[in-house]
Amino acid sequence: MFENLRILDTTLRDGEQTPGVLITSNEKLKIALKLDELGVDVIEAGSAITSKDEQKSIKTITENNLNAEICSFARPVKIDIDTAIGCEVDSIHLVIPSSDLHIEQKLRKTRDQVEEMAVNATEYAKSHGLIVELSTEDATRTSVEDLKHLYTKCIDAGADRICACDTIGLLTPEKAYEFYGQLSELNMPLSVHCHNDFGLAVANTLAALRAGATQAHVTINGLGERAGNASCEELIMAIESLYKEETHIKTELFYETSQLVERISGVTLQTNKAIVGANAFAHESGIHADGVLKNTDTYEPMKPEKVGHRRRFILGKHVGKHVISEKIKETNTEVTDDELNRIFERVKRLSDMGKTVTDVDLQAITDDILSINPEDSLILQEYTTVSGNKVTPTASVKVNINNRERIEAGVGVGPVDAAIEAIRKSIVDTADITLEEYHVDAITGGTDALIDVLVKLKHEDKIITSRSTEPDIIMASVEAYLKGVNKILTDKKRR
Ligand code: MN
Repeated sequence: MFENLRILDTTLRDGEQTPGVLITSNEKLKIALKLDELGVDVIEAGSAITSKDEQKSIKTITENNLNAEICSFARPVKIDIDTAIGCEVDSIHLVIPSSDLHIEQKLRKTRDQVEEMAVNATEYAKSHGLIVELSTEDATRTSVEDLKHLYTKCIDAGADRICACDTIGLLTPEKAYEFYGQLSELNMPLSVHCHNDFGLAVANTLAALRAGATQAHVTINGLGERAGNASCEELIMAIESLYKEETHIKTELFYETSQLVERISGVTLQTNKAIVGANAFAHESGIHADGVLKNTDTYEPMKPEKVGHRRRFILGKHVGKHVISEKIKETNTEVTDDELNRIFERVKRLSDMGKTVTDVDLQAITDDILSINPEDSLILQEYTTVSGNKVTPTASVKVNINNRERIEAGVGVGPVDAAIEAIRKSIVDTADITLEEYHVDAITGGTDALIDVLVKLKHEDKIITSRSTEPDIIMASVEAYLKGVNKILTDKKRR
């Protein structure tokens, strides 16, 4: 059904027409190289007439001798075609408005005049050795009769392929099947170009291909004007996974290609975007996660590796203790039931605060819990800090040291410094400890990330390292410091 399928990727042309997107020449080359590696047949690299920069971008791509055919968008006017030729492209996507609305209201011409322009442009481009994909804009609001009339004239003038654009996304799968079926009667290589205004671009493209279209216009991440174009990754994976037909596309490159395009275009993917979204292979619910751990087929329609993505378990409010236990085992870490309970409590507490706990967070929490010693001599009971731009950062702590309660206060350059100072004062008659090093890291992005604090303490020529992980930076700092002090105190007791 899809054996002769060709893919024209227009991320760099229609995709760049996404409102607010501007891709520099260097970045365009990066995307083109990735698309070539992915194995698309045609790269529509831009519209040469747009600007000098655009010409430079396209030329840089054509100079790289990629396997893909490099194409420029062009209107049926000599200057557009000449500029494309100047960029040494292999082909042009020659776009002719075909609906009455576009011909009369936009171009203010007659159908005969437009047909004549199309034929002349085709002949001109062919005489300069270009491959011509003759395309009709707003084709889905044009009668099939008018389209066939135009296509036939242009095919006679030398057009190599024809394309019908559903410019504003009006097709349904049924209409697409009928429409492209009628156009395929011309027995020419036929392209389908669908827009996603009703979320049907991929469905309509599939229907068109089943009806006889042979080439699909797509973009990475479904970028494109307004709601975008048919998404390359969705179309290909539907063909491979649902229709069970192999394509020549290297699907395992989809995720990295998508990430590259997301980064360069600045258009952030919705987390639930099919195939390449952050949640495409993420499981949170206890039941689903449990099922996937037993057999991934239970809740995954394809393997994440197939598209270069990865499976993630989100430890959210639905997480079961079983999943946490399995996740910890995967890292070859042994925990007791009591420790597991404490880890589980900590994860629950974080997710109740609305925080997403990732695998990396879980690792940090586990390390943190495992590093707490039940025989600690110094236990924090409460701490308070006050800080601001017109106050001296001040902290008070209540600690229990060797079963004696102590309250101390301290000031510092900031709240962390003040809190550490307060604790240092509470142990001053117990041990002489200096803080040698202090490191803070946010484990995952965002201001609600878990904070990992590492401290190095010095006591009698010994350096002790300890760390703690908490959502609160002061708490993490205090905990890390306390753990270090406890290590020193335990060591002293043993001597
Ligand atoms: Mn378009």
